[in-house]
Amino acid sequence: RQTRIPLMAGNWKMNLNHQEAVVLVQKLAWTLSDKRHDYDKVEVVVIPPFTDLRSVQTMVDGDRLKIRYGAQDVSTQDSGAFTGEISAGMLAKLGCSYVVVGHSERREHHGESDEIVNAKAKKALAAAMTPIVCVGEGLQVRQSGEHVAFTLAQLDGSLAGLSAEQVSGLVVAYEPVWAIGTGEVATPDDAQEVCAAIRARVSEVHGEETGAALRVLYGGSVKAANVAGIMAKDDIDGALVGGASLQADEFGGVCRFY
Ligand code: PEP
Repeated sequence: RQTRIPLMAGNWKMNLNHQEAVVLVQKLAWTLSDKRHDYDKVEVVVIPPFTDLRSVQTMVDGDRLKIRYGAQDVSTQDSGAFTGEISAGMLAKLGCSYVVVGHSERREHHGESDEIVNAKAKKALAAAMTPIVCVGEGLQVRQSGEHVAFTLAQLDGSLAGLSAEQVSGLVVAYEPVWAIGTGEVATPDDAQEVCAAIRARVSEVHGEETGAALRVLYGGSVKAANVAGIMAKDDIDGALVGGASLQADEFGGVCRFY
């Protein structure tokens, strides 16, 4: 755990236009500049809609902010006749450090299979960005008790064909679908169970060192008031945060998890 820098990533989903994005990043920068807290312990990332990225880049570069940013999705293609798609090269050019792939909302509403998620992760890596690979079970699977096996199968499919070096540098987010946007956060023990299983699987496939280096996030109704319990767990290295990332104070509170 000591070598893994905690990561708090705020997924704005389809919220905030580019002017609102500037306001939120400004407020967040102000919150993070409060010297009473040691925000240097944590890597803070915002994940706005595509249309906000240029504005966020301008602010981050102009004010030399420590905040990093990424995109919510990426195309499986490099360029050409793919109307509406955004390539990894375009995102890298805008200074994106991260790309979320396989968010459950994309798996559900856009039919993204593990194969597609895998192709997207490879494109992000090829463009020198870090994929945040999302996995996690729905309510029925959880109730059937198959959540670990289900999530590991998604993990295997999503990371297929990647080298140990590639896997050690990426981020996996365990996001049980029943906890996303519902206010129903997984208990720290439930989150730890699956995050530990994810690390163990990566260690089994790619070796102990790779497993030890991999950052595993939990996502699902994380907010300032519940983050500490989650972060106290050995195999949880940060959070992917939806709703609570839309307010600077609240997201700042998440970043002060320690
Ligand atoms: C998410 O969208 O990845 C997420 C975890 O959302 P929320 O924090 O709102 O549950």
